[in-house]
Amino acid sequence: MTVNLLNFDQPALASYFQELGEKPFRAKQLMRWMHHFGASDFEQMTDIAKTLREKLAQQAVIQPPAVHVEQVSDDGTRKWLVDVGNQNGVETVFIPEADRGTLCISSQVGCALECTFCSTGRQGFNRNLSVAEIIGQLWVANHSLRQADGYDMLPAGERIISNVVMMGMGEPLANYDNVVTAMRIMLDDSAYGLSRRRVTLSTSGLVPAMDRLKEDCPVALAVSLHAPNDNLRDEIVPINKKYPLAELMAACQRYLVKAPRDFVTFEYVMLDGINDTLQHAKQLLDVVKDVPCKFNLIPFNPFPDSGYDTSRSDNIRRFRNVLMQAGYVVTTRKTRGEDIDAACGQLAGKVQDKTRRSERRARKIPIGVAL
Ligand code: SAH
Ligand code: SF4
Repeated sequence: MTVNLLNFDQPALASYFQELGEKPFRAKQLMRWMHHFGASDFEQMTDIAKTLREKLAQQAVIQPPAVHVEQVSDDGTRKWLVDVGNQNGVETVFIPEADRGTLCISSQVGCALECTFCSTGRQGFNRNLSVAEIIGQLWVANHSLRQADGYDMLPAGERIISNVVMMGMGEPLANYDNVVTAMRIMLDDSAYGLSRRRVTLSTSGLVPAMDRLKEDCPVALAVSLHAPNDNLRDEIVPINKKYPLAELMAACQRYLVKAPRDFVTFEYVMLDGINDTLQHAKQLLDVVKDVPCKFNLIPFNPFPDSGYDTSRSDNIRRFRNVLMQAGYVVTTRKTRGEDIDAACGQLAGKVQDKTRRSERRARKIPIGVAL
């Protein structure tokens, strides 16, 4: 059976080579070729003996997912629709800034968690992505950015993608094993060599998985808070019914013991008239009082039939001032790539929904309404 070597982190690759009767150090060489140099053809690997290259070519492939569409925004943001088979596609976004280049990666085809303001959540859920499909997004983005710059392979030391955020489609902690393996490849010096501070995982708050992550692969953590009390959070981030705010805050505190940064970033989507009053801001201060944190306010990015509006900018400013006056660092996320629907929560991809979500939603429409 042909194996796709993009599914392996270095230890898994070392055991693979051992099974082939080869020295485990070959794993390091191969990781460098595949991930550092972006090779997909064994013939390119000139420091590996020809006999081994031929053996590999017979039983293994280096197969990144195919790119269906690539779009470039006026502001330089790029979005790839990555084909993951069976009419499913996920989206990957590159956001260039003066001092860094951030890649936003998807972890699932759709999402099963149904946050009410999220376009991915509305698409329903099909399946988890494999390691090759997750790390393959980094591979594909690197490949395409190099080509845009006129290189086949980058000069040593050059790094266009300096940061990765697991903030694309899906809940990364609901695809735990594959996401952790992919992140280990991101951190591996022979592969992408990113520091743990430059890889951020965003979760809607899967408490037991947060506890596992701090032991297995403690990267920087962002938590999608979005509401300052359980009543409202139960409604807009339904996973809150399972892991309510007090438990989530305690999990954040435990995470910080092992985290590469000494704060958690709380993401807070600004929904007009829903969660954006001064009262909400004051409640929020009380909820987070025991967790060292920063805030990232995200103006709601609209999508068709969302039923929500973006908070007015003076309300966002007032909300932010309450947090800042209490001594917190607050950033208001700039919307990037809006013209190509690449902003937070706008990633829709192509999801063959297995949860029949749209059907269920349709049933909630009162009888008598013309469809
Ligand atoms: N599932 C993970 C990561 C993906 S979403 C999570 O929920 O954290 C990345 C961020 O975008 C999350 O904070 C999410 O709540 C937010 N988001 C989702 N829909 C949005 C929208 N329409 N406008 C702005 N932000 C949104
Ligand atoms: Fe899933 Fe995150 Fe969207 Fe919620 S906000 S539905 S957890 S992708």
